[in-house]
Order: sequence, then C-alpha cells, then structure tokens
Amino acid sequence: MINIYQPSLGKEELKAIEKVFESNWLGKGNLTEKFTENMAKKLNTDRENVETISCCTEGLFQSMKILNIGRGDEVIIPSIHFIGAINAIKACGATPVFCDVEKDTLNTTSFYINEKITHKTKAVIILHYGGTPCDLDTIVRLCKQNDLKLIEDNANSPLSTYKGKHTGTIGDIGVWSFDSMKQIVMGDGGLIYCKDKNDIKNIQQESYLGLLSSSGFSNSIDKKWWEFDVDRPGRRTIINDIQAAMGLEQLKKIDKFIERRKNIHEIYTNELRELEWLDVPNDVPSDRTSSYYMYHIQTKYRDELAKYLKDNGIYTTFRYYPLHWVKYYESSEKLKNSEYVANNTLCIPLHQALSSNDVNYIIEKIKEFK
Ligand SMILES: *Cc1c(COP(=O)(O)O)cnc(C)c1O
Repeated sequence: MINIYQPSLGKEELKAIEKVFESNWLGKGNLTEKFTENMAKKLNTDRENVETISCCTEGLFQSMKILNIGRGDEVIIPSIHFIGAINAIKACGATPVFCDVEKDTLNTTSFYINEKITHKTKAVIILHYGGTPCDLDTIVRLCKQNDLKLIEDNANSPLSTYKGKHTGTIGDIGVWSFDSMKQIVMGDGGLIYCKDKNDIKNIQQESYLGLLSSSGFSNSIDKKWWEFDVDRPGRRTIINDIQAAMGLEQLKKIDKFIERRKNIHEIYTNELRELEWLDVPNDVPSDRTSSYYMYHIQTKYRDELAKYLKDNGIYTTFRYYPLHWVKYYESSEKLKNSEYVANNTLCIPLHQALSSNDVNYIIEKIKEFK
C-alpha cells in the first residue's frame, strides 16, 4: 500500500538518539533547548516567544487558558478543522461557533468569520489548510476591529509564510505539531508561539508542574536543593531530549522535504488538471509559500475513486471531517461550502518518501479511473 503520509527517519536520527542514550540524560535538557532555539531561528522569532510542548493539541488547550477563555465565551472555528481544536474549546466550557470555508482552498476567510461574531466572541482558531496560508491581513484586521484573539493552528504549515512572515507567528498564539504524520517528526511533540513573552513564561510553568522556574526563591537553595516552590497546580506536558534529538536532525532535512513535496504537488497538478471530471487545488498565491502538507482533489465521484485507489494499493483519505456534523458537538448549523468539501474532497498521498514511480503510478490510476 502506498501511504498517504509517512515520516522520513534515517540513520542520522538513530545516531542522534544513540548519543542521548550514552549521555544518560533522557529528559528535557540541552537538546530540547537547542531544538527550541533552532525552531525560533527558523521562524524568525525570539527564543522567548516560543516553547516546546508535548503535542499541538496540548498547545490548543493551553491557548484557551492563557487567553482566559471559559464559560459564556464563544470561540469561532471553521468546521473543517482538527478535532483537538474544538475539544480545547469545549473542555474549558466555552461554546464553539462554526464558520464556513472556501470551497477550493478549504481555508476560512474574514467574510465567514465575520458572519459569526457576536458580543460573546473572544477568539478565532484558524487553520492553514494543507499548508497554504489563509488571507491573514484581512483576518488579523477583523480580529483587531472586534477585539478578538487570533490562534493559528500551524500543524499543517510549519514553515509556510505569508508576505514574508511565518504563519503561526502572525496571530496572538500559534501551535505546531511534530507527531508521526507531520513534516517534522519527533514521534510526538509540539511548539507554541505567543506574541506576549509573559505568556510563554506562563506556559513553561503550566507544562512543568507549576514550578517557578527560578528555584532560587529560597536563599537556602544552594544548601538544600530539594526545596521548591509553585504558584499553581501545573501539569507535566513537556518533551524530552530523545524527541528533541530527532527533531534537530529533522530540522536539517526539512527544507529538502518541503522542496520534494512541492515538486510532487506540481507534478500532480500538471498531470491531473486536464481531467474534466476532477478539480485540482489552486496554485499557492504569489504572496505566500506553502509547507505542502496535503494534496486535495475534488470530484463528485470521490467515494468510488477512493475505493478504486485503495483496491489498487493507494491509500487516500479526507481531512478534516466537518466538526458540525459530529453529534457530540450538537450543531444544527448549515455550512454550504463545508458540506460540498466534505462530499467531494479526497487527499491523495503526499510525502517526501514517494518515489517517482509511486507518483507516476498514482497519476496513472487516477487517469484510468474514468
Ligand atoms: C496533527 C494536527 C494537530 C494535532 O497535533 P498533535 O501534535 O498530534 O496533537 C492539530 N491540528 C491539526 C490541523 C493537525 O493536523
């Protein structure tokens, strides 16, 4: 079976992990710090604006807390979004309000967000679908005008840019994922960006037992190093140096990964755009760059095509099943584009480990389908 997503881990990552074993320091330490610094550099932001975190979902949960969102508040979220984002809204007692997306990009816009703003709205959690940035200028402007916090789910778009600036660092908070299916893989792991550096200090405490980072609260600390102080009941949602060792190696390779993904993206579009029963994704607008997380096609024959490809050893899927259709979230919303998207969209394999033969085979099978 040709996988839809796949990590590329090799002897470099193994070697790096071996060194961690030899060092006898497996916990969060120097390598995690190095990874955090390197990510900050890569994103053109300060180390003090970012922190590693156990996963992207945890980052979304922490966002709600940092922004003081809770019962009585509304948070706008596109229905085509990852389940962890809405769970974060629900878990803090706030009300998720679904907005629509564009039919072709699956990204939301300021227009669809604006339709859903009420006096209770506190924040918006956008997603840069498949790695292509939303039109951030108009969304940022709308949020400012209405005093809303903007959270960017940057799990699909780790190194995407909008007008020269990295997505995830444009809103108030941004969250990254390094789980096994993302472009940068460390098994599990995440990163959070906060515009306000104090929020990062908060997150550092929140994710490590509520401990005050400077254990020097007591002047006896040099003599009695087992003393500590906390000012809240924090959790433990950090990453460790085994994960960071993988991440550091992945960071050395990520530009090549994205280049290869872009290349496959272009080949798909060139080959598939001639099929009149199928729509290919738009080109990335010239003021943005993508991290090419997904390649999505749209056709009214989606279900049959998915089955046909699976029978021929090609795994496909649809991301993300509309949240307003999930019973637990109790929505009676009608979102025309989201529903079109949900019935017609198929994501086909896109990752750097695909060979040219794989790519040609996938194209051939899609062309053969009709
Ligand atoms: C993968 C993903 C997440 C969650 O990331 P984890 O690190 O697995 O928690 C969040 N949002 C989107 C859009 C994702 O694709």
